[in-house]
Amino acid sequence: KKQNNVNSSTSETLIKKSLGVNKSRSVISKFVNPSTDNQNHHRKDEVRNESTIDENPYLKNIDPKMVEMIRNEIIECKNLITWDDISGLQFAKNTIQESVIWPLLRPDIFKGIRRPPKGILLFGPPGTGKTLIGKCIASQSNSTFFSISASTITSKWIGEGEKSVRALFAVARCHQPAVIFIDEIDSLLCQRSEQEHESSRKIKTEFLVQLDGAGTNDDDRILIIGATNRPQELDEAARRRLVKKLYIKLPDLQARKDIIKKLVDSENHVLSDDDLEKIASLSNGYSGADMKSLCQEASLGPIRSMSFDMINKIEADQVRPINLQDFLSALKIVMPSVSSEDLNHYVTWNDKFGCSD
Ligand code: ADP
Repeated sequence: KKQNNVNSSTSETLIKKSLGVNKSRSVISKFVNPSTDNQNHHRKDEVRNESTIDENPYLKNIDPKMVEMIRNEIIECKNLITWDDISGLQFAKNTIQESVIWPLLRPDIFKGIRRPPKGILLFGPPGTGKTLIGKCIASQSNSTFFSISASTITSKWIGEGEKSVRALFAVARCHQPAVIFIDEIDSLLCQRSEQEHESSRKIKTEFLVQLDGAGTNDDDRILIIGATNRPQELDEAARRRLVKKLYIKLPDLQARKDIIKKLVDSENHVLSDDDLEKIASLSNGYSGADMKSLCQEASLGPIRSMSFDMINKIEADQVRPINLQDFLSALKIVMPSVSSEDLNHYVTWNDKFGCSD
């Protein structure tokens, strides 16, 4: 098994294109090419600008308004995500490195039977780092990152969902290599039901057609990452296309310790290694997001021990450091958000369909 290379980072700026899910976006009118990397000689589409994109054949039959709508959502994400930012999940990280990052970086090697999957599925409880992994994949493969929640397609763009799916893939093709991250993919690709609306059926069909890459060439470098907390809702067609199905688990003891350490290290604290170990063992069952809430709660301990008058007057560097007691109190307030019953569902689904771990 390959254990190497998962900690590499890149100095490139990640351009994130978020379609309607980002509240604090700063819209930029001009496309910024994500590939400013001179060392990467394997990329065919190095230089693109607005005019070449306008003339791009991928956009030929796409409603210009749709293209504009997607373009207007382009945002620049300055935060680069590295594998080190994701605690635990070593199996998922290694699998992703080998099956999607290297192929995106070296399509000249990963062709033929080495061709990477077009889609992967990240499933598991909420707050376990699925979105973080999506961003990391885009960062590490120097790809343009499109992030969209399935409910944006199905509810915000009512009546235009199908067209927007087509436009999304077309714009992504113009900005290759591209990673399209689809949160809540279960609501887009769920099993057919009697009550299913005509429009959602059309969206689903269009999505599957696009996923199959119908009418496009083999050189497309677009990776679809579906994320879900409800993998059991996905139908067979979706399962088949999202070839790698990775269980993104709750953090284990070491990962929880790592998350706490990273979060408190930038703060004034007096936590010893033993303290961190103790907090980590007491937070069994907490997700990564729960761990973050726990640390935020504990960080308020020193503030709560002061009167309002003191808070008003005190110098910032005089605030007492965070200690073990702050965490013990926080553990009584912040509870794990995932039930053990839910966990069993993931384990069962992983046994049946997931890549093993
Ligand atoms: P998901 O997409 O699985 O619901 P996110 O990736 O949005 O979860 O995670 C929410 C937050 O929780 C992240 O921004 C991060 O702060 C924290 N987090 C979750 N999992 C991890 C992890 N494995 N390592 C480090 N931080 C994590």
